[in-house]
Amino acid sequence: MADAVFSMEHVSKAFGDNVVLRDISLAVEPGEVVAIIGPSGGGKSTMLRCATTLEQIDAGTLSYGDLVVASTDADGQVSYVRGDTMRRAKSRFGLVFQSYNLFPHMTVLRNIMDAPIVVQKRDRSEVEQQARSLIAKMGLTGCEDKVPCQLSGGQQQRASIARALALNPDILFFDEPTSALDPELTGEVLKVIRQLAAEDITMIIVTHEMAFARDVADRVVFMDGGMIVEEGAPAEVFGNPRQERTRAFLARYS
Ligand code: ADP
Ligand code: MG
Repeated sequence: MADAVFSMEHVSKAFGDNVVLRDISLAVEPGEVVAIIGPSGGGKSTMLRCATTLEQIDAGTLSYGDLVVASTDADGQVSYVRGDTMRRAKSRFGLVFQSYNLFPHMTVLRNIMDAPIVVQKRDRSEVEQQARSLIAKMGLTGCEDKVPCQLSGGQQQRASIARALALNPDILFFDEPTSALDPELTGEVLKVIRQLAAEDITMIIVTHEMAFARDVADRVVFMDGGMIVEEGAPAEVFGNPRQERTRAFLARYS
């Protein structure tokens, strides 16, 4: 798909004998929000880690817009772009993990400003201005000079989202952004993700929050056993799942 923000085609990945991703193809269009659901061990995190080059794929293609990051030649050999091209690719996406991994010794403001200055070599005052506006947007006004341990889990996760957004990525990946949070803090994080969706930020969100996925996603992808078993509009997948495996999984949540 030429105008996809992100696409993976025929991606496979194994850890030793354990085949974790089997011929996965997924393309995301500008402004689209894709929710990925499925049982634990199904390969969701590995898929995001492959998409964000934290893990290498064994076969397939990975692209961000017009930039092909990894491809497989006729002999089945996978090659990745390097150097400046890889750096350019990496600034096209942001990743927010389950456990907010902010730098523990840096203030919230420094956490957000670090990568834009160090990696993207942007102007400090421009970056600070953007960081302060992201802090306000994430409802973190007053937390600028606090270090992560002084914040609640929900505040830390919102700071992590601000940090990812500060790189002006074309797409944001979330891996179970609320699973490490107490229920009363989950809502405030889902609220800011909802707000980003309303602003047409392109996102892939792995989540166990079914009501949230149904509500916020344009498309729902059900993954199990390293495969995309079923995908479609939320009303279809949740309201009228076609596959038995999807039905069995969703039954556990109702
Ligand atoms: P999910 O996020 O859907 O729960 P994961 O992608 O975390 O699934 O895991 C899928 C499978 O890959 C599991 O069998 C898991 O044990 C295995 N796996 C994940 N990461 C690694 C790794 N770094 N080394 C070996 N096996 C891994
Ligand atoms: Mg996972």
